[in-house]
Amino acid sequence: MNMSMKAEPSFRESVDLMFNRAVALMDLPPGLEEKIRVCNSTYTVRFGVRLRGQMHTFTGYRSVHSEHMEPVKGGIRFASSVHQDEVEALAALMTYKCALVEAPFGGSKGGLRIDPRQYDEHELEQITRRFAYELAKRDLIHPSQNVPAPDMGTGEREMAWIADQYARMNTTDINARACVTGKPLNAGGIAGRVEATGRGVQYALREFFRDPQDMAKAGLTGSLDGKRVIVQGLGNVGYHAAKFLVEEDGAVVIGIIERDGALFNPQGLDVEAVRNWIVGRGGVTGFPDAAHTAEGSVVMEEECDILIPAALEGVINLSNAERIKAPLIIEAANGPVTAGADDILRQKGTVIIPDMYANAGGVTVSYFEWVKNLSHIRFGRMQRRQEEARHQLVIDELERLSADTGIGWTLSPNFKQKYLRGADELELVRSGLDDTMRIAYQSMREVWHENDRVDDLRTAAYLVAIGKVASSYRAKGL
Ligand code: NAD
Repeated sequence: MNMSMKAEPSFRESVDLMFNRAVALMDLPPGLEEKIRVCNSTYTVRFGVRLRGQMHTFTGYRSVHSEHMEPVKGGIRFASSVHQDEVEALAALMTYKCALVEAPFGGSKGGLRIDPRQYDEHELEQITRRFAYELAKRDLIHPSQNVPAPDMGTGEREMAWIADQYARMNTTDINARACVTGKPLNAGGIAGRVEATGRGVQYALREFFRDPQDMAKAGLTGSLDGKRVIVQGLGNVGYHAAKFLVEEDGAVVIGIIERDGALFNPQGLDVEAVRNWIVGRGGVTGFPDAAHTAEGSVVMEEECDILIPAALEGVINLSNAERIKAPLIIEAANGPVTAGADDILRQKGTVIIPDMYANAGGVTVSYFEWVKNLSHIRFGRMQRRQEEARHQLVIDELERLSADTGIGWTLSPNFKQKYLRGADELELVRSGLDDTMRIAYQSMREVWHENDRVDDLRTAAYLVAIGKVASSYRAKGL
């Protein structure tokens, strides 16, 4: 059958199709499958903000997919393409993602239909605060009920406005800061949150490349060193993932696809320079030392080892899946591969590290931030110097023994410096994130390799996640 004749499902239908493929392999009690799949509620709000001398009406959504654990968690997206179907799909993915990485939350997502580039900072603040007000007054922003985070088009700045808006409305709530994550450090944020999703993509790839059997499934060998990478979307997630893979693992970014086209250079692109170019000029056009293609998405079809879609959903679909040559795709964005494209790629033997795992670094570090806010203390504050003092004891004793016995060992200054230093918040966050990404990968991998009916990581991820959600429902007696 000609795949291109098939109709492309919507994003939410894609998520449901993938869910259905997984539950068909499970033995869930009647009715529970439907209960887990459906989105519990979606609140739509239309509100007005007076800007430039006239009233402007905006439409926003907050979807709660599953409340099997509370608070529910999920980012708020600012984009002109935001609509209910998308927000519901993203909320469902949040449920499965949180379950997979054992972040104790249900799934939610929010969106505001707006092109943030059309407004100045002061206007955006007014709009964001008003949206936050509308959600907070219905407990759709709340430290113990519903905790948003950044997503496409939003970042630390918007999260700080939301936190402040909630605090103004709840002046005696001592946990007010825990109402949203992804805040700047000086407003109750946590070290390492901005980079967290990209960092998680790096840790996911490192874990994949630790296993020759897994690499073999994608026809890859060796390590990340020298692997050719193409990334779509050099925003928060794409930029950090690309930067860390190049700087710390020796990967080579040969293609970068942005809104206004793509850059390609088989010798490798300078990620930092491209990012600065985009920040300064609003796009990649005109960047020197690379070929520019106006029709950016065709660059996804170039030969490479790893393709990282880190922008939008549905970019790998029935119209181009057949031509994607990358043997390994890591879904840094949510839903970049449609259900139909997933079928085609699976048949081709492409390995896909699925979104619900690949971009879970953000919610993982958000979880740490939420815990930090509720405990009102920075991670490492109590232990750091004590840890250093204990390490100093060991060093002193080793040096004494060496001198007393005449062995004459000397500890290298580099070792001493590294060993003596107690872990600060950033190191603890990275350690917690790395551990989470490794454990979650292994849980998917086990199903992938050990269940004969599972031939891809996405189905494995769904099986693990749905299994966890189902057991929390069972524990509640539902
Ligand atoms: P962002 O707004 O920081 O970056 C998105 C980037 O994609 C921008 O550089 C934008 O110019 C580019 N882009 C937009 N449309 C494009 C197009 N048609 N073609 C190519 N590039 C395009 O957003 P982000 O936070 O990096 O989020 C990206 C993806 O990652 C989204 O799918 C989001 O849901 C997902 N995600 C983000 C986080 C997070 O912590 N920020 C966490 C989990 C998942």
